[in-house]
Amino acid sequence: MNYNKKTVYDIDLKGKKVLLRCDFNVPQDKATRAITDDKRIRAAIPTIQYLLDQGAAVIACSHLGKPKGEVKPELTLAGVAVRLSELLGKEVIFAADTIGEDAKAKAAALGCGEIMLLENLRFDKREEKNDPEFAKALADMAEVFVSDAFGTVHRAHASTAGVAAYLPAVSGLLIQKELEIMGGALAAPARPFVAILGGAKVSDKIAVINNLLDKADTIIIGGGMAYTFLKAQGHTIGKSLLEEDRLDYAREMVAKAEEKGVKLLLPLDNLCAAEFSASAEAVACGQDVPDGMMGMDIGAKTVEAYSAAVKGAGTVVWNGPMGVFEFEAFAEGTRAVARALAESGAITIVGGGDSAAAVEQLGFADKMTHISTGGGASLEFLEGKALPGVVCLQDK
Ligand code: AMP
Repeated sequence: MNYNKKTVYDIDLKGKKVLLRCDFNVPQDKATRAITDDKRIRAAIPTIQYLLDQGAAVIACSHLGKPKGEVKPELTLAGVAVRLSELLGKEVIFAADTIGEDAKAKAAALGCGEIMLLENLRFDKREEKNDPEFAKALADMAEVFVSDAFGTVHRAHASTAGVAAYLPAVSGLLIQKELEIMGGALAAPARPFVAILGGAKVSDKIAVINNLLDKADTIIIGGGMAYTFLKAQGHTIGKSLLEEDRLDYAREMVAKAEEKGVKLLLPLDNLCAAEFSASAEAVACGQDVPDGMMGMDIGAKTVEAYSAAVKGAGTVVWNGPMGVFEFEAFAEGTRAVARALAESGAITIVGGGDSAAAVEQLGFADKMTHISTGGGASLEFLEGKALPGVVCLQDK
């Protein structure tokens, strides 16, 4: 995939109506529907401010939650418009529909330096189907398309890819950063290039491991997925997470790494527990997990080995926690790896989702070069897949 895409800096925006795809999929309180974390709205501000400063009229749009093509009042973006208005310090006009009469009339009347927000795109089932008519109706309101919702670029939806068939399409500043840093790491990484993969399941990371075996110097495995690898190597794993049908794959990957001269590191020791619980006692064990116990985190020796591998790296990409970091007794492996990244001096890239949450929760967020804003999207990026929402943007 070509990562060298035109951005908002490469086109004339003065007096132009700009359709801006944002990621305003914010968490809400279940009972009150109040926004519980406005990070994604704040992250969109630099692109919006730039467009407004250039004299564009901004028609922002996003999805929120999973309304599945139906109007669900609890998933309205009206609250996002209010918060966005507070953050920008200016009025954000809210349209009660997406491509209906209200949206069209408000878009037509929108002046330079003004901003409006459309209602939840996924209230219309044609959005996720990438319906050409829906995409064209969105595009007809504007003259330029700016894509800045990295969290959905791996989906070919009307507002993420379809509209680019009808409008000149460029990236906003958030996607520009993702492409520059993650694309740079994959295309020409500063070496040694170390990839750290953790999280619950091997099956989620197979394509990532495959792709990185051709690129990385070292691949570090931790988290629940490590136990399928350990079992494949002949170790006992007690009642740790296991994907029985991935044992052959794990063996293959170890052999392939050897063949390619990639160091593949597995846990040397573990912290285990008799039950999956926050109050479970953490018991140290070696590479073998005793009967009746489950591996919950990497052990102290492993922390040392993994930290040493990160020290002196040129680039580190990290996706997936090293253990059940949500339970304090099993958070140390993840915390230690986060600390090692923070102190490495390397270009450090943290995939979205759980690893991003872990880095934030453990207080290392501002020490990383880049924390991706997309969970699924950043995984697919690391898999080397062509992302429809990136492919559709104009090449530089
Ligand atoms: P993922 O969504 O695949 O990145 O996985 C993240 C989840 O994996 C987190 O909720 C962790 O608690 C969980 N996890 C990490 N290590 C383990 C482990 N050893 N056993 C069970 N779950 C784990």
